[in-house]
Amino acid sequence: MSPVSAYVGLGANLGDAAHSVRIAIDLLGQLPQTILSACSSLYRSAPIDATGDDFVNAAVKLETQLDAHQLLVELQRIEHHFGRERPFRNAPRTLDLDLLVFGKETICDSTLEVPHPRMGSRAFVLLPLHELTPDLEIPGLGPVEQLLAVVGDQAIEKLDADR
Ligand code: AMP
Repeated sequence: MSPVSAYVGLGANLGDAAHSVRIAIDLLGQLPQTILSACSSLYRSAPIDATGDDFVNAAVKLETQLDAHQLLVELQRIEHHFGRERPFRNAPRTLDLDLLVFGKETICDSTLEVPHPRMGSRAFVLLPLHELTPDLEIPGLGPVEQLLAVVGDQAIEKLDADR
């Protein structure tokens, strides 16, 4: 099976969120049958549909021979490594991993929706994605550049590399 380009969004807003995101990126680089081909800067964004402190966000590009559901299982395994609990809907989280894009596939079943259903309206997803692949076409949604232009007023800032 030839590798598929997949994009994963990372977010955290509990504890040392930047540290959690950096460790999670390292773990994504160790997934089986998968190469971490690019990693965005870290960003800080105000919570949207969530509670608690500001989020630290990033995105990575993977080349993977896993299928989308196998990749989701691996993402959930990493989330559990961070002891993520869901005491209530949209609770603060030590780590959230979303499968944003999986090649040109569109998937909608009981466990997985790809492209991720809310990604088209969230600057904290679109900005790191655009940094990775400025000409990315998101299946069913369109060019990342156009989507980003619409959400450009949402508060998000790039973090210094050493923060
Ligand atoms: P959340 O608590 O918001 O991270 O949602 C996790 C749930 O969303 C899991 O049960 C997944 O099966 C489901 N889910 C559906 N589509 C996706 C996706 N593209 N990426 C990550 N989780 C997804």
